[in-house]
Amino acid sequence: MSKGKVKFSEIIFDRIVNLKTVVGAVVVAILLFFGIIFALAAVYAPIRLAVAALLFIAAFGIGYYVTKKPTTIVQRLELSGQMKPAALKCPNCGAAVDEKQIKIVSGVPYATCPYCGQTFEVIEEPKW
Ligand SMILES: [Zn+2]
Repeated sequence: MSKGKVKFSEIIFDRIVNLKTVVGAVVVAILLFFGIIFALAAVYAPIRLAVAALLFIAAFGIGYYVTKKPTTIVQRLELSGQMKPAALKCPNCGAAVDEKQIKIVSGVPYATCPYCGQTFEVIEEPKW
């Protein structure tokens, strides 16, 4: 089962990315909320429209920053382009394994079977 262990630093990195996404989503929601409030209030003071615009820009900027693919995801995408996703099968029980289960451990892709829990090395096959 424990052929490949996920490095502790990678787990921490994943947590930080998730936390950043959650916090980012909340901040974006708050900024958009105030942006709308200021945009509506601009009827009484046109300067508020500028504040609303700044809030919207900040919201989209943060939204872009937190939804941007983290490094580990980029690695997985590059990997999936190099091999046949349909050919990914668990060597233990033969179940089809989702490519999302692939973890890069020290540059080597490992997949964990969601059915039997078997961890195995993913052999890359060229598409052509
Ligand atoms: Zn399995």
